[in-house]
Amino acid sequence: MDNSSGKIDIYYAATGKAEKVDRVIKSDAEWKKILSPEEYEVARRQGTERPFSKQCAIPKSGKGVYQCVGCGTDLFAYDNKFESGTGWPSFWEPVSKLNVKLEDDSKFGMRRTEVLCARCGAHLGHVFDDGPPPTGKRYCINTVSLKLASS
Ligand SMILES: [Zn+2]
Repeated sequence: MDNSSGKIDIYYAATGKAEKVDRVIKSDAEWKKILSPEEYEVARRQGTERPFSKQCAIPKSGKGVYQCVGCGTDLFAYDNKFESGTGWPSFWEPVSKLNVKLEDDSKFGMRRTEVLCARCGAHLGHVFDDGPPPTGKRYCINTVSLKLASS
């Protein structure tokens, strides 16, 4: 169902609750103003950063949440991050299924599932079925699409 003008439910890790919020909709020109060229290329043009090219920020406390670089939506908890050896940050689940949108992606002759931010539509990465327990999923995410929440 496409209700692109309506409000959506987004989960907030800090409160553990979902809230109704407006989608974040901006023009390309507006996105270019708030994102770096590299962030724009990945988040808005479905680019992929080179593997091992970026260092994902690690929370000093060992606890933290990575948010969408475009709109600040909570996406993945550091608790659910694992070392996949792929050169991209990998998680076995998002903070909430509400906060990510999955879409079929058949570009480059591959059948993959694209992961997007549910609130602003930023491209985050892809999800695969070869992750660790408990979910068996591997959310393979571009570092530049994420920012560590300040806590
Ligand atoms: Zn977003």
